[in-house]
Amino acid sequence: MEEKEEVKTFNDLRSEVVDRNLCGKCGGCYSFCSAGKLNALEMGENDLPEYSDEEKCLKCGICYLICPQINALNDELKARFGWKPPIGFYQHISSARTTDQNVINVCTDGGVVTSLLLHLLDQNLIEGAIVSKKKGPFAREPIIALTRDDIIAAAGSQYTESFHLEELGGQYNTYSPILPEVKSLERKYLRNIAVVGTPCQINTIKKMQCLGILPAHMVEYTIGLFCIENFSFNDLTKKRLEKRLDIELSDIQKLNIKDDFIITLNNGIMVHVPLEEVDMVARPACLACSDFANEYADISVGGLGSLDGYTTTVVRTDKGAALFRNALNQGYIEEAVYRNADERKIEKTKMLAKIAAFSTRKRLRAEQRLKTEGVDHDES
Ligand SMILES: Cc1cc2nc3c(=O)[nH]c(=O)nc-3n(C[C@H](O)[C@H](O)[C@H](O)COP(=O)(O)OP(=O)(O)OC[C@H]3O[C@@H](n4cnc5c(N)ncnc54)[C@H](O)[C@@H]3O)c2cc1C
Repeated sequence: MEEKEEVKTFNDLRSEVVDRNLCGKCGGCYSFCSAGKLNALEMGENDLPEYSDEEKCLKCGICYLICPQINALNDELKARFGWKPPIGFYQHISSARTTDQNVINVCTDGGVVTSLLLHLLDQNLIEGAIVSKKKGPFAREPIIALTRDDIIAAAGSQYTESFHLEELGGQYNTYSPILPEVKSLERKYLRNIAVVGTPCQINTIKKMQCLGILPAHMVEYTIGLFCIENFSFNDLTKKRLEKRLDIELSDIQKLNIKDDFIITLNNGIMVHVPLEEVDMVARPACLACSDFANEYADISVGGLGSLDGYTTTVVRTDKGAALFRNALNQGYIEEAVYRNADERKIEKTKMLAKIAAFSTRKRLRAEQRLKTEGVDHDES
């Protein structure tokens, strides 16, 4: 008689996530598999995880628990971080920007992320940071930045068409797979690092920390990006997108997302596209994700709610609060200046309202998506 399975295993992950086209291809299950050395799992066709040898599976359930699409640890996370609706626990919200001209030249919004990392490195509070460096059109690849130059080189959201699609595996993809990079820390002589990531990525790291899975203990600081969705498309969908937007992608110099999708063209003109227009190339996994404001990061950041040139900064944990305060006191960043206390209060209320609205919108979209079985768009 076959032994009864008492824990959720990769079989459950496959039926609940992979088979329902909800897998974000983050590589977390494969990278942190307890039977990794035995090669129980592999990243198979189309970068989806699969058993390479089911017999080798230790049935420990780690792959299942740390998957960002699985909610089994959510109550524990919420309790740990004192989660509150609608945007998670936070201590304060601020509109801030870097004071460093080198960062201003390359950053996405206000350069707060890059300046916080530079501050941590300069103060020896971290030995490095996992950031994502430009690799090609829409594509970024994770690196462990060990120097100021590495950190600055990974800033921003500039766009370049100088790569051939074949070099990118036949796909344009804004998602940067940082979790395998976290795994690689095991082989490096580093103690404290910072990680910059999307909500799904920070969520997995926090779940690993809850469970005590190594090397998540090396992640001392998490800076979480707001994220409505990542995009992924091939040559065919690229043409459809170009037709819909009436723009050649090779004309794009910079991309950003705030209230809408903002395209800066090579000639300097800015085009605002409603987010619904680009949903056609959103990754299916993102449409089932309910975290917009990176609710478990030490500090969460986005452009939404701030004037151009500023980063909306949500300080959540005590560690995040100390980091923000020290970076401010030591002149790495500065806060937006308001005419008076009343204006300050109103601007902060507006910022919070926008983050709350986007958080609710993403949560409702995920609920809707999870009700719908089947595929919204084929990533391949
Ligand atoms: C995929 C994606 C979706 C986003 N969606 C929204 C949104 O809907 N609304 C909103 O307000 N803001 C969104 N943001 C955040 C916003 O674009 C800025 O990153 C944020 O405001 C910080 O700006 P900054 O100038 O302080 O950062 P910078 O100083 O320019 O630093 C940016 C940091 O982000 C890292 N990074 C860049 N791309 C990626 C990636 N794909 N994955 C992981 N890390 C990356 C860089 O390595 C760098 O460390 C999104 C970001 C990404 C990457």
